[in-house]
This record gives sequence, structure tokens and C-alpha cells, in this order.
Amino acid sequence: MKINWTGFSKKTPKERQELVSSLLSQDKQVFLTQNQQLPIQTADQMAEHLLGTFSLPFALAPDFLINGKTYHIPMVTEEPSVVAAASFAAKLIKRSGGFTTTVHNRLMIGQVALYNVPDKKMAEQAILSHKSQLLSQANDAHPSIVKRGGGACDLWLEEKEDFLVTYLSVDTKEAMGANMLNTMLEALVPELEELSGGQSLMAILSNYATESLVTATCRVEVRYLSRDKTEAQQLAQKMELASQLAQVDIYRAATHNKGIFNGIDAVVLATGNDWRAIEAAGHSYANQQGSYRGLSTWTYDLENQQIVGELTLPMPIATKGGSIGLNPTVQVAHELLGNPNAKELAGVIASLGLAQNFAALKALTGTGIQAGHMKLQAKSLLLLAGANEAEVTQLLPKLLKEKHRNQETAQQLLAQLRH
Ligand code: NDP
Repeated sequence: MKINWTGFSKKTPKERQELVSSLLSQDKQVFLTQNQQLPIQTADQMAEHLLGTFSLPFALAPDFLINGKTYHIPMVTEEPSVVAAASFAAKLIKRSGGFTTTVHNRLMIGQVALYNVPDKKMAEQAILSHKSQLLSQANDAHPSIVKRGGGACDLWLEEKEDFLVTYLSVDTKEAMGANMLNTMLEALVPELEELSGGQSLMAILSNYATESLVTATCRVEVRYLSRDKTEAQQLAQKMELASQLAQVDIYRAATHNKGIFNGIDAVVLATGNDWRAIEAAGHSYANQQGSYRGLSTWTYDLENQQIVGELTLPMPIATKGGSIGLNPTVQVAHELLGNPNAKELAGVIASLGLAQNFAALKALTGTGIQAGHMKLQAKSLLLLAGANEAEVTQLLPKLLKEKHRNQETAQQLLAQLRH
């Protein structure tokens, strides 16, 4: 069903819940509109030493056009202006034709690190000559993934200083596959030790998921960057320069990528995925050429008057396994997205990362980041000072006019109002 998103930001949470309910099944509608939470009994199964549950804002960035299909992206974030920036970027990118994504592969890699190997070359030959046997052994350790059409795909070795490392790649289908791989790898240890004459130091999945790469691209019409043609062209040039800076300056690259992860983490969290794994994968991939770089690039296409964005990163995302089936809010998130499979979801997440990056670079090279942040930050300051909703509405314009917008000023304004 087509939803009219006009004025979405101006609505109350209740009105927004009602608007999106057509995207949800009956039980999820009830769950969302009644502001239900993760049940304590379920939480107690998910982590140890439980005291309670912890809430964060659950928001929606609507109307992303990705590969010709529309997605509404749930985001869990505590940072003001992240969702607004993503939604703004999505609008401009949709007008310019939307995102295109490519999932290059979807395999997870794990490793068994062998040490004290007497002759690494001979050990390598011995292990490789038993490759098909070892792959079968890995599959026998986790037969259900083979039944689902996945399983161990390849095995190879690399000498790394004192270590001989055996790598295993596995098609984990809809799961992220950490437990799956760890089970398979541990099952290989006795055979690998025997074949190599060495000892296993550890057998574990690698989060450097180079066989789970996804690329999102988009082209934004330069005329959408500003109403003023010259200013729009200057902005496009500066965005290209900002992208170049993130390739050569690690101080900028870290912040460039943090901005991308503002979006990525928010949807990864909302969809019940392991955000530490996604962060580890992204940041290690940013260093793949030997120096840490920006994950995305922007180029100014002079001929077509478009700014062209591209983001490639590992996205070992899951739609099954872990805590995904346990957390009802996560189920709401998957339904809002239209229950995409893992490959489709990887493309959606990369698109959101690129949108977030676009919004950040446009703001940074244009008016500066603070202009957009100020209002939301002033609001947070007033809430922190103890103002209620009506007081925030009254005090916000006053605080925005203050030279020093800090906690003390917010408290003073609130005290004056209440006095
Ligand atoms: P699970 O152990 O939950 O395994 C995936 C489950 O999904 C399996 O039980 C599988 O069932 C089920 N499943 C249902 N449908 C499908 C499908 N279509 N495709 C694939 N599986 C399906 O999770 P993972 O092995 O994915 O491991 C992820 C968890 O491991 C996360 O919680 C993560 O935080 C954690 N972890 C991460 C580490 C890291 O990143 N370094 C290290 C250790 C743990 P069946 O068996 O019946 O096929």
C-alpha cells in the first residue's frame, strides 16, 4: 500500500505509528501502537545477570528507492539529526533515480591458526591434498546448513610469520554464521593438527568478511544541492574534495566512516544484528590497502552535472539466527522493511550508509554541520534540564537565540519560565 509521507516529521509518534501500521501484520501493529517492549523473560534468555531492559529511540527513515523498489528503513539511534539527515538524503537521491546495489558474494570466512608446525610447506601440501575430505568434515559438523543449500565452499592456507593459517569459507545462507563456522572450524582441528604436525592456537570466524561485500551507488543531480546554480556546482566540487580528503587523511577518514556508520549501525541494531561484527568488518575493510581510508567516494560528473557516490563494504548481515527471532521489536523492523532476505537487506543497509554520508558531506561542505544540529541539540539540552514537552516548545526559540547554548543556559531559561 502506498503511504503519503508528506509531513511525516511533523506528526506525533502515535500518528506515525498509525501511518505505518498498514505495513505491519496485526500482532505487530498492536505491539507497536501499545509501545510494548522486549519481555523480561525473553531478555533473561538473551544475556546473563539480567537487571532489566534498555530502551533507545526506534525511528523510521521512509521512502528509499533502491533497485527500483521502495523501502522504509527502521533506525535505532540516540543521536539527534541522524534520521532526519538520512531521510533528507533519501528524498534527493530518489528524485535523481535512487540507489543501485550489487551484492558481490555472501560467504563467511573462518580460520584455524596452527603454530609449532615443523615444516609449513609440507603441512600445507598435506592439508590441501585432503581438501575435499576436510570440506565434507566441516559440513558433517553442521548438516542443517547443507540441507538449506549452504555449507563449506573452500579451504585454503597462508603462512603468516610463525603461523600456518587454514581458512574456510562457508555459505551461511540467511544466518550471519558465527556459531555455524565456529562449530565447523573446531571440528577440523584434530585433523588439521594431525596433518600439519602442529598445534591449533584457535579456531574462530573472522569478522574481516571480504567474501560478503556489497556496493551501493547513487547519482544525485547537482541542481538539487542548491537553488543557486553556482553554489550547487561549488558544493559538488567540495563534496568531491571531501571524499578525496578521506582517502589521504586518517583523521578525516575515521570521521567520514563514522558518519556512514551513523546510518548503518542504526539499521543493523534495529534488525537485531551483531553491530560489533559489522563495525569490525567495515573498519578492517577500510584498511585493506594498508592505510585506513574513507569507505565511500564521491565524484563530480561534469558532463551529466551529477555527483556520483559509491560505497563498498562487507555486510555479513542476517535475517535468521542470533536474537533476531526473539526480539519482537526486531520483528517489527523486518516487517517495516518488507521482510527482505539477507542479500537484499545488505543492499538496503549500504544504501542507508551512503545516504548518511551524502547528507554529512553536503552539510559539512555547505552550511557546516552545526546549523542542522543546533535545534536538536538545544532540544536535548532543555529535556536534560527537566523541561516538559510544552516548556520545550516555549523555550526552544529562546535558547536558539542565546550566545551560549549550554546546560546552564537551558536551566536558567527553565527556571525563569517556571518562576
Ligand atoms: P545461530 O547460532 O543462531 O545460527 C543460525 C540459526 O539460524 C541456525 O540455528 C539455523 O537453523 C537458523 N536458520 C533458520 N533459517 C535459516 C536460513 N534460511 N539460513 C541459515 N540459517 C537459518 O547464529 P549464527 O551462527 O548466525 O551466529 C550469529 C551469532 O553469533 C550472533 O549472535 C553473534 O553475535 C554471535 N557471535 C559472533 C562472533 C563474531 O562475530 N566474531 C563470535 C561468536 C558468536 P538450523 O541449524 O536448523 O539450520
